[in-house]
Amino acid sequence: MKTIKVSVVTPDGPVYESDVEMVSTKAQSGELGILPGHIPMVAPLAIGVVRLKKEGQTELVAVSGGFVEVRPDQVTILAQAAEKSSDIDVERAQRAKERAEQRLKEQHLENIDFRRSQLALQRAINRLAVSKGRM
Ligand code: ATP
Repeated sequence: MKTIKVSVVTPDGPVYESDVEMVSTKAQSGELGILPGHIPMVAPLAIGVVRLKKEGQTELVAVSGGFVEVRPDQVTILAQAAEKSSDIDVERAQRAKERAEQRLKEQHLENIDFRRSQLALQRAINRLAVSKGRM
């Protein structure tokens, strides 16, 4: 079966690198499925999951926004943060979720950055979902 090379890279270094049969990811414009030979493109990513299909298995990587660059033989995901499902600290994500929910409840107070709290909540919910493999 044809494969495509995938790299997920963050400012802290590479998180995932492999040859896979299919990549799907959440661009800001919607779900994006990439097979070998895909036309070149660049798209901004949403907070979401990258699914990597390889030898009948699907691996999941949580991504907190960034960009995807597609070439016919290579996909590069440049992410602000990214974690393989097995590397996610579930308790940390749960704490982040509770913190963000608390801030959103207090949004009537001054000094609460609503958008920032919403994004933190989305990152935490995404990490929890990816760690459970429910995507
Ligand atoms: P927190 O409030 O727990 O730091 P956050 O969403 O603000 O969460 P980020 O700024 O997105 O965290 O990420 C900072 C760094 O910590 C990144 O390297 C990211 O991969 C890592 N990270 C964040 N949350 C987790 C988690 N639950 N498990 C593993 N790594 C995490």
